[in-house]
Amino acid sequence: STTGERPRRVLLKLSGEVFGGGRIGVDPEVVRGIAAQIADAVRSGAQVAIVVGGGNFFRGAELQQKGMERSRADYIGMLGTVMNCLALQDFLEKEGIDTRVQTAIAMGQVAEPYIPRRAIRHLEKGRVVIFGAGAGMPYFSTDTVSAQRALECHCDIVLMSKSGVDGVYDSDPRTNPDARKLDTITYGEALQKGLKVVDAAAFSLCMENGLPMMVFGMEGAGNITRAIQGERIGTLVTA
Ligand code: UDP
Repeated sequence: STTGERPRRVLLKLSGEVFGGGRIGVDPEVVRGIAAQIADAVRSGAQVAIVVGGGNFFRGAELQQKGMERSRADYIGMLGTVMNCLALQDFLEKEGIDTRVQTAIAMGQVAEPYIPRRAIRHLEKGRVVIFGAGAGMPYFSTDTVSAQRALECHCDIVLMSKSGVDGVYDSDPRTNPDARKLDTITYGEALQKGLKVVDAAAFSLCMENGLPMMVFGMEGAGNITRAIQGERIGTLVTA
């Protein structure tokens, strides 16, 4: 919720998948469009922190299935997220938005290390902070990291953007044609129903700390801007 004391501060999760426009790698036109939407919201006064996924490059679990050791595969996955961060930073700066990338795995030539107090300071100055390399730990997902960074950086809400789905459904809409989109749901219900749209670990971290989440589809025109500005365009998940 927005207080009178400070501007709305959000943690936006962007899945890596969309960055590739459906292919491996980065599709600059897609990233340009996402950056333009974020810039609109920042200019309207919102403080925006972002966690970017890496599914357009590598997913640890998939590399493991092909015979790679899981931890190393996960590090490869985390390094992929950093390329997405740099692409997003580039297009945000072209929009005139000050941006800092902070990574959970140190790589001083391209990004600051993750320093929460410094991240908060950047946000207060109106800079967009982009968090890369996940948690720096194998066996985690960028969904879970989104909840953790939102908590540590005192964000008001996690905005979980999804591609190909516009919210939380009462069952899997890809397999059940009768699945109904929900306006609101509690973390407890989502976990009990085993809804997989967001990681269980992310749901439970938010539940235990009373942090709300909105799950929304990023495809509609201006959806990212609207979500950051506080419009209810998907499903609100609460404790
Ligand atoms: N990853 C990890 N630890 C983290 C975050 C990510 O090991 O804290 C790895 C994991 O292998 C994951 C990959 O990085 O598959 C890419 O992240 P994710 O799958 O969450 O990206 P998205 O699906 O959002 O594009």
